[in-house]
Amino acid sequence: MEQPKIDSQPLPPTEPELAIIAQDVQKWYGQFHVLKGVSLSVKRGEVVVVMGPSGSGKSTFIRTFNALEEFQGGSIEIDGIRLSHDLKNIEAIRREVGMVFQQFNLFPHLTVLQNVTLSPIWVRRWPKAKAQQVAMQLLERVGILEQAKKFPGQLSGGQQQRVAIARALAMQPKVMLFDEPTSALDPEMVREVLDVMRTLAADGMTMVVVTHEVGFAREVADRIVFMDGGMIVEEAKPHDFFQNPQEERTRKFLSQIL
Ligand code: ADP
Ligand code: MG
Repeated sequence: MEQPKIDSQPLPPTEPELAIIAQDVQKWYGQFHVLKGVSLSVKRGEVVVVMGPSGSGKSTFIRTFNALEEFQGGSIEIDGIRLSHDLKNIEAIRREVGMVFQQFNLFPHLTVLQNVTLSPIWVRRWPKAKAQQVAMQLLERVGILEQAKKFPGQLSGGQQQRVAIARALAMQPKVMLFDEPTSALDPEMVREVLDVMRTLAADGMTMVVVTHEVGFAREVADRIVFMDGGMIVEEAKPHDFFQNPQEERTRKFLSQIL
């Protein structure tokens, strides 16, 4: 049966145990077919790591989940909200989905604390005091409470990325998306960011993480999805994925990163 189109009110999810249901997602950039029917369901509390060569469509795919990219075919449902082109609907979806990017994307002219409180105050309409209280708790959780009054440019890359995580969490999302969150970091800072992500996963957050960090994928992922050429080529539990990949393209990719 066709799922009814809805605007902004969450309906009871079609599959309550699933936080994300992406079905047959198709996208073109002009003539270029970038997503060739990608389907992925993510359970509540599940951590899915997406791997694949550069240009395989990983970023494009996860960016469709919060309407940062339009798509031309298929469907996406986040926490029971079916994504549509309606602006109210997109706002509702974005409240459910936190996103962390490779390049942090903090507001350079705002302090750390202001970065974290901005959306709760303007989008959630929280009183400033409440937003600040929650922000301080989150900054403590990611280990940078003492940096609250500083500006992003005064922080290391690892600290900035932890602020970005706190900022996303401040909106109390149901799902967190990470797009190569450690790829722009100096090696010595990768760990502090992965540790925050590990804790978040252990606390039960639903996460989709694009990363080439094999150690993180092995330890934290419930499932690994391998994309190539705009398709999911293989998906498996971490142990099976790394020890016994089924597809030639997966084996070739792993031989390059392991
Ligand atoms: P990945 O994250 O796996 O490296 P992307 O999703 O960024 O891959 O990109 C997938 C493909 O789409 C690449 O071939 C890329 O060049 C192309 N692409 C990405 N963004 C655009 C765009 N705005 N316009 C045209 N092509 C794009
Ligand atoms: Mg990418």
